[in-house]
Amino acid sequence: MVKYWKDIISKDMEEMDKENAVVLLPISAIEQHGSHLPVGTDSIILEALLAEFVKEKDFEVGSVLVAPQLYVGKSNEHMGFCGTLTLTAKTLYSVIEELTASIVKSGFKRIILTNSHGGNTDLLNLIARDLRITYGIAVYVFDWWFTNFWADILKEEKQSQSPYGVFHACELETSLVLAIAPETVNKDRIVDETPDEMFQDEDYISLFGPINIGWKTKDVTKSGVIGTPSLATAAKGEKFMSFAVDKLAAIVSEVLRFQY
Ligand SMILES: [Zn+2]
Repeated sequence: MVKYWKDIISKDMEEMDKENAVVLLPISAIEQHGSHLPVGTDSIILEALLAEFVKEKDFEVGSVLVAPQLYVGKSNEHMGFCGTLTLTAKTLYSVIEELTASIVKSGFKRIILTNSHGGNTDLLNLIARDLRITYGIAVYVFDWWFTNFWADILKEEKQSQSPYGVFHACELETSLVLAIAPETVNKDRIVDETPDEMFQDEDYISLFGPINIGWKTKDVTKSGVIGTPSLATAAKGEKFMSFAVDKLAAIVSEVLRFQY
């Protein structure tokens, strides 16, 4: 059984085998996602994924806890688009550090920073190392934007030809929201936009490296979309979601086994 932190009685938590437990700390974002997806897209996707994970997956009681989700992340790249909320890197660093200090104080020694927004990733990797050094605990970063997390399912389902087809408010995210909360999507306003042309004459500069550029969203898209949401469907979204729930369960099992 997986439990939400907020649903546990203090006394019961005191008696848990915290040496062998892991706490997922969910971190998401509230930011523009083009003219067709809600600003809460990253939050909605992560919340739904974790709800499925909690409902479906079977772990030993008390071994897997889901801490309260941080809805607002670091989204300064999207400022200038209405509806974006952001914390500064410093503030988000402090919030995550202080929550971790509380989690450690309760006796837990393993944390997975569970992230759904690409703009948080660099900071989370940095924080993970600092938390490891400061508290001596095991810290993991779950991230699907700059890892191969989706690779297997995208190989089967992705239709976008552009390397930027799955990036932001894209085929992947739009499919997921169509499956989870279709009433929040305005399908009539879907537009595709990718920065392929911007980088077409460059050998090294891109949004994937090997030379990364420090970019803000308005540098690379007018619509706020980076990708091809016109190829999104709810059916694909269902497949993406069940793939993600199974994979998250496999990842958590491995973290529970792994010692360092
Ligand atoms: Zn997103």
